Amino acid sequence: MVKQLYPRLEINLQYLRENVEQMVKRAEERGIEIIGVVKGTTGLVPCVQQFLAGGCTKLASSRLEQIEDCQTAGLDVPYLLLRVPMLTEVPEVIRLCDYSLNSEIRVLRALNEEAGRQGKIHRPIIMADLGDLREGYWDHDEMVDVCCQVENEMDNLELAGVGVNLGCYGSILATADKLQELVDIARRVEERIGRKLEYVSGGATSSLMRILDGDMPEGVNMLRCGEGILLSQDLDRFYGYDVSYMHEDVYTLKAEVIEVKTKPTHPVGTITVDAFGHKPVYEDRGMRRRALLGIGNVDCGNYQELTPRDAGIDMVGASSDHTIIDVEDAERSVEVGDILSFDVDYASLCYLTNCRNVHIVYV
Ligand SMILES: *Cc1c(COP(=O)(O)O)cnc(C)c1O
Repeated sequence: MVKQLYPRLEINLQYLRENVEQMVKRAEERGIEIIGVVKGTTGLVPCVQQFLAGGCTKLASSRLEQIEDCQTAGLDVPYLLLRVPMLTEVPEVIRLCDYSLNSEIRVLRALNEEAGRQGKIHRPIIMADLGDLREGYWDHDEMVDVCCQVENEMDNLELAGVGVNLGCYGSILATADKLQELVDIARRVEERIGRKLEYVSGGATSSLMRILDGDMPEGVNMLRCGEGILLSQDLDRFYGYDVSYMHEDVYTLKAEVIEVKTKPTHPVGTITVDAFGHKPVYEDRGMRRRALLGIGNVDCGNYQELTPRDAGIDMVGASSDHTIIDVEDAERSVEVGDILSFDVDYASLCYLTNCRNVHIVYV
């Protein structure tokens, strides 16, 4: 087997656990449960263990494979499937998950039948679309009816609650008003079924600011949260929150320099398309010193999501396996064989942890 050292992603497990603790504590103080969403690091078991050590008692992913890996590793807690199930994965959803988010009556019927077949009780959360326009019922009367059908007609399902997702497609802010709409739907369902729902699931990291601001509508009692814990800096970058009580350096990506030369900045010859079939625009900055790294978009998804730790380095471009950086103004000298460090963002974290060419090292 080929043994390569770079690129490598170092993950500080203690920092990750402390981030979980900080967020779980803040949510608990307001009566809100944080379900640990593990897909941001591809469900890597040592990372998932930090969610549990930090205080989460349930775990969630959009991917059944990750949930199965956790169970195989002996992490014996309830699991929630985040992506509304494909009809074809219903048997595996019942086998692996205690909860799932749902928005189609046909799928709910299939879950009910399959749960009966496997002798299990499955707990769906029915999703409302409050304007973000991804999954969920746009027609809330229909949604309330579906909740009642689950409650009254599907013996192998136990309606766990209602939920929403905001911010992921439509970029819609999870305001207190939006989340109050969800609570209102929950109250209508509770009135119709004559009991309290276990969960009113108010969203993902994009709803965390309601906890941080202390204006979460009464009744929302669960968030499904990954990014804000895994990459707490995003709460600062995207929403302007001071999260200095969390670690912003859980991950360090390290890549090796494989060439350093002074070259023109504008390609020389007739320009057609790049490695991905695109026609980029190249800025002519004259001759500059630039370095090539042994990492590419196959490893990280998009090189632009990597941020050099060293001052004066610019990300110039990348193909599948190479990344070009400008080091003309770098504060450190950059030579062949040097190892450079980078911060990563959410998408690159997903790609890097999912790539067999990237070494994951726990520190
Ligand atoms: C991924 C996902 C989450 C968690 O998102 P984060 O931004 O990582 O907190 C929550 N709910 C659903 C439906 C998701 O797909």
